[in-house]
Amino acid sequence: MTERASGERAPLEAGAGRFAPSPTGDFHLGNLRTALLAWIWARRSGRRFLLRIEDIDRVRSGSAERQLADLAEIGIDWDDEPLIQTSRADAHEAALKDLAERGMLFECYCSRRDIREAGSAPHVPPGHYPGTCLDLDEATRERRRAELAAEHRAPALRLRAPAPEWTVFDELYGPYTGPVDHFVLRRADGAPAYNLAVVVDDAHQGIDQVVRGDDLLTQAPGQAALAALLGVTPPTYVHVPLALGPSGERLAKRDGAVRLGELHALGWSTADAIGFIGSSLGVERARSARDLFDALDLGALRALPLKPWIVEAPAAP
Ligand code: GLU
Repeated sequence: MTERASGERAPLEAGAGRFAPSPTGDFHLGNLRTALLAWIWARRSGRRFLLRIEDIDRVRSGSAERQLADLAEIGIDWDDEPLIQTSRADAHEAALKDLAERGMLFECYCSRRDIREAGSAPHVPPGHYPGTCLDLDEATRERRRAELAAEHRAPALRLRAPAPEWTVFDELYGPYTGPVDHFVLRRADGAPAYNLAVVVDDAHQGIDQVVRGDDLLTQAPGQAALAALLGVTPPTYVHVPLALGPSGERLAKRDGAVRLGELHALGWSTADAIGFIGSSLGVERARSARDLFDALDLGALRALPLKPWIVEAPAAP
């Protein structure tokens, strides 16, 4: 176990926090801020801090390595080797099998277009699955399977939602109740879906605290409901505000120098970047992750306004 920023060692039974990036590109300041918050939140509460590379979806080659290098550069340390999500295929399949045996899955033959065109059914929250394939009889299933096979397509597997809604606890939002979708657990291409893998792998890594961007807040009730179905205590959540560009869209390349490498090219040191992130969190003159760790207390973190961090195009320091 590594020495933590506080200089203390977490007791062995301590839970764990984590950061679980998808290796789809280089981190921007917003991703780095979320990673720092996840690290501080875990370490401040005596937890271990683990990484997981969520590479079951789109992957950009070399991206995971660069992401890890950025985390190390800004002074984040982690316990254990990062878990590579694609190495967990057997566990994802085992969870699907368990759910299938308990009647909690159903095959879905819908294309994206079918779902769009079905529109919103009564009592179905906007954007949620309209229920088309939920209760088909076996003869219809046989026919739909054959139709798909003729098009070289396969059904996806969806969760039979165990409850219409679920409540999670979020340290910033308090108790948060949201609808549980019949969400996809195995995609039509056979790959495990994010919502399955995240729950199975968080449980495997002993994660009991999830700090992540608040774009995922609405996914938390479904993920917690799935965790409970799989016999796992759902984690507590901390959904932190995202970083946006001046246009109000998510921070991105078009917003100028927002990645560490681009900032260095403008003359920013790593310490300058941390100072910039720190000032967005109400901490002035932080020069290292350790400074941030020392200056932020959990009360102050909880009191952060729940509004996005607007990043104006950074210029030379
Ligand atoms: N891999 C997801 C992402 O990078 C985050 C998943 C999570 O934190 O639950 O957006």
